Amino acid sequence: MPFQAKKMGKIPPYMFAEFARKKAEMTKAGIDVIDLGIGDPDLPTPDHIVDKLVEEVRKPENSKYPSFVGHIEFRKAVANFYKRQFNVELDPETEVLALIGSKEGLAHIVPTLIDPGDTVLIPDPGYPPYRMATYLAEGTVYYMPLKEENHFKPVFADIPEEVLTASKLMFLNYPGNPTAATVDLTFFKEAVSFAKSHQIVIAHDSAYNMVTFQGYQAPSILQVEGAKEIAVEFGSLSKTYSMTGYRIGYAVGNKEVIQSLSVYKNNTDTGQFTPIQLAAAYALNGDQSCVQKHNDIYWERMKAMIDGLKAIGIFAEPPKGSFFIWAKTPKGYSSNEFAQKVLDQSGVIITPGNAFGPSGEGYFRISLSLPNERLYEAIERMKNNISLSK
Ligand SMILES: *Cc1c(COP(=O)(O)O)cnc(C)c1O
Repeated sequence: MPFQAKKMGKIPPYMFAEFARKKAEMTKAGIDVIDLGIGDPDLPTPDHIVDKLVEEVRKPENSKYPSFVGHIEFRKAVANFYKRQFNVELDPETEVLALIGSKEGLAHIVPTLIDPGDTVLIPDPGYPPYRMATYLAEGTVYYMPLKEENHFKPVFADIPEEVLTASKLMFLNYPGNPTAATVDLTFFKEAVSFAKSHQIVIAHDSAYNMVTFQGYQAPSILQVEGAKEIAVEFGSLSKTYSMTGYRIGYAVGNKEVIQSLSVYKNNTDTGQFTPIQLAAAYALNGDQSCVQKHNDIYWERMKAMIDGLKAIGIFAEPPKGSFFIWAKTPKGYSSNEFAQKVLDQSGVIITPGNAFGPSGEGYFRISLSLPNERLYEAIERMKNNISLSK
């Protein structure tokens, strides 16, 4: 391919491409395929947020270029949310940056902080953009394996000294995608102290911070004393308020990192449409009952899917956060073999764990962001059609 930089060659073909092809083929053959692969809320954005967006779109002044760093009302709303939820003080002027979805910031923080050849510490399995952004910035990926016996937390002491010397940035993500793992503040304390001693910036991805169950509250890494010296946290409205299509998120924490990221962004994009920022501010400041309502629905789905899996001999722990089930493939099946089997025998798409990194091998991910009737149909089909003997 002549019209492509060499670094682009490192980006593997879209991980869902093969499944998309197969799905299209089966659909054409008249099979009703149910896709449990995609993590995108089916529940609608709450009405009060949509109404606010429409109101703001009608104001002529809102059609101008937005503020580079984000509308001050949005940045104040994020600070207000951090105070209310985590008792963390943030200066909306210097410690909060608006993003065009958190993925945008997670991708842009890499070239903001690393030079070609520098190392980035990446959770494995993990959200693919951490790795892809590192390839595009010509950095070196170092995988931190997340093992079940360590509750899907990295073991910092296992990272070789020479890797640490070359590292500028470490990604963390709890509640995690794809593992659905959660942590307590003790882990974040350990991470902050480790990162400080090696001068490695932590980028904590908290996309699922409010998608939690059974009274569990996900901590913010910024609750750790002194975390702002080394850490930034990325948050999003996408999952909390079913606003994935709006593209609105934020980075908070270390001032210098926020400042550098905002310079990178000033020269790359021009911020998110003002009405979307104002609707997001309204979401963060307004009635939060919609969040619990959505979480209750995810939790019911979670229990139903876990029971369904049990019926075919697969045991999965109910997670405390995220809308994913991460479970071991049955004995004798690789991730790909099992995903293939589920698709062939029941017309249901699940994601093979190795799509999220080498340590995901031997696992699969199910997303619960699908309407109940489709999800329950998928459960029935899996129960009735999947036999694990080869
Ligand atoms: C969905 C998701 C995001 C990103 O969401 P945006 O819509 O870009 O804000 C970030 N991290 C993880 C792990 C996700 O699953």
